[in-house]
Amino acid sequence: MAEAKIYADVILPLKLNDRMTYSVPEGMEGVSRGVWVEVILAGRKYFGVVDAIKDEAPGLDPLKIRPIISLPPIPPVSKEDLRFWKTLADYYMCCEGEVLKAAYPQAVQKQAVVKSRRKGPAKEENAVEPLPKLSTAQSAALSAAEEAISDKKTVLIHGVTGSGKTELYMRLASPRIEDGGQVLFLVPEIAMSRQLQERLERVFGGNLLVFHSKLTAPQKKKVLERLTSGQPCMVLGTRSAIFLPIPKLSLVIVDEEHDSSYKQADPAPRYNGRDAAMLLASQRGAPVVLGSATPSYEALYNVAAGKYVKVDLAERYHRSGDARVKIIDTRKARRLKDMKGSFSRELLADIRKTLERGEQVLVFRSRRAYAPVVQCPQCGDIPKCPKCNVPLSYHKYNNTLECHYCGWHTTFSGICKACGSTGLLPKGSGTEKLEEELREYFPDARTERFDAQTTESRTAEQEMLTDFAEGSIDILVGTQMITKGFDFAKLTLVAVVQADSLFSIQDFRADERAFQLLTQLRGRAGRRDLPGRMVIQTDQPEHPVLMRLTGKTDALLESGSLAERKMFSYPPFVRLVVITVRERSEGRLWHLERDIQSILRECGVNSVLGPVKPPVEKIDNRLISQFWLKLPRTKGVALTKNILKVKLDALRLRYGNVDVTVDVDPQ
Ligand SMILES: [Zn+2]
Ligand SMILES: [Zn+2]
Repeated sequence: MAEAKIYADVILPLKLNDRMTYSVPEGMEGVSRGVWVEVILAGRKYFGVVDAIKDEAPGLDPLKIRPIISLPPIPPVSKEDLRFWKTLADYYMCCEGEVLKAAYPQAVQKQAVVKSRRKGPAKEENAVEPLPKLSTAQSAALSAAEEAISDKKTVLIHGVTGSGKTELYMRLASPRIEDGGQVLFLVPEIAMSRQLQERLERVFGGNLLVFHSKLTAPQKKKVLERLTSGQPCMVLGTRSAIFLPIPKLSLVIVDEEHDSSYKQADPAPRYNGRDAAMLLASQRGAPVVLGSATPSYEALYNVAAGKYVKVDLAERYHRSGDARVKIIDTRKARRLKDMKGSFSRELLADIRKTLERGEQVLVFRSRRAYAPVVQCPQCGDIPKCPKCNVPLSYHKYNNTLECHYCGWHTTFSGICKACGSTGLLPKGSGTEKLEEELREYFPDARTERFDAQTTESRTAEQEMLTDFAEGSIDILVGTQMITKGFDFAKLTLVAVVQADSLFSIQDFRADERAFQLLTQLRGRAGRRDLPGRMVIQTDQPEHPVLMRLTGKTDALLESGSLAERKMFSYPPFVRLVVITVRERSEGRLWHLERDIQSILRECGVNSVLGPVKPPVEKIDNRLISQFWLKLPRTKGVALTKNILKVKLDALRLRYGNVDVTVDVDPQ
């Protein structure tokens, strides 16, 4: 009598649309959904997760079905987590295998098999401080938040740095942990959250777990074990923490919800940690608390729609109030011959006064290098990267022209390749030029530069931040990298040079981002006893972002730019999906574009922009073409996405190894 065979459908950590079927050998009959198995695919061994057990394998030759090799001792994946993976894969139009790979990177899988080291004495519980006392305003905010939670609404805490968001988070988390729950607390970057981490540790002691991608495998395993055991705790982590098994999820907190670091650009799943955490919370019935000083338009849209409740924390008790903002019109200054290099005389005077008081200055510029471009004064030619369609930046410290997209570089000879004349001129000023100018204007001040080049190593970055915090740097010139994180006690003047470069980006989110960035920078200036100032040099003093920053218009302009997004059908009013094709051959690209167009027609996607060329249309010798799909925010759209995914998979298969990526809700 032939034995009845059992088969298992297995999800493998690969970009595979189909589950692979394996037979269950004798002695392993106990395998069930969620169990980890070791199998072979195309000659390689993989760890995968069983998604289904069945009695037959229709369409497959039973003799060709390979058996499961072994059952690695990794704790099984819960049904709830499998369901969450499936939801994520559907939403972000990728495979469950890609989600599995993100959730259990190979290092974690391998480590999980290794036996746990003998448990030493439990980590000494730090002396636990009592929960902080709340001010009247904070108490009111706490009641409002708890009320919204009991109404099953998402809470959006709107408050600047120092307004007491952290106190509120702790108050919301504490009773839930005491009740045996587990709290997921997401932050954009762990390195920038050290101060927050320390405060949470003081209150929650050994109940605080920290999770991020830089943890070693044994450290990760420890967090996993603690969570799966179901013990009450708070896990503070970056976006990948959403993949942790959290059986007793009782609250999700997303700090700085607007931050674009929550988005994973590459590889798939191209998810937003905030949105994924909200999906997770809704599947588990856990409440969500978001926090930001500059809420995303998506969040504000949901407040207007009545889905979120906004709780304002206006007061700022660690500081003396928002830094005052002064706008300097550089068009006017140039006309009046009031500019000295990249700086207006007015700003230079402000810097001098600040230094004389023994205080510190931060100069922000969004472009690194000495000059963002060089140009030939004879023929007007601007040298570009041979592999990308972008101008080369001039770096004076090593006398090179460099591409900031692919890293290609060459020695700067000053000779124009187009006409042969000498004397190529650097145009504009990046951080390196500003540093040089400031050293010249303020020879006695200690000036340093903080950008991708000077902070190449983690140690250099930390050292410079420490030096600035301890006051051994007077002027720090920096890019975006300097906007987050630490508080500097003696920093009272933040200067933004050429703010215009923040506004001119061809991106529907440019204004939203510029406002967030400037607000964050403003938050760096001043302390309780030292009032802060922010000076912005710009050619567009009347730009809406600046008007909003100076409080000339607030809610009005906010709704104004939301109205603009509505008029032109941009998120949050539609769901944006971007298909990107990267291809070396122009001919193949043309064919791909035609094929994608007909797929979109077949799927009934009517609102499509494309094929369009992004601002940089060639990177590293590959031509880039995009399709922007504007899908309605209705439930029915899920089906369209599913069909589209199937057709795009077939297209990839037909062309063989072609680079077509799909990004849902791009940042
Ligand atoms: Zn020339
Ligand atoms: Zn390049």
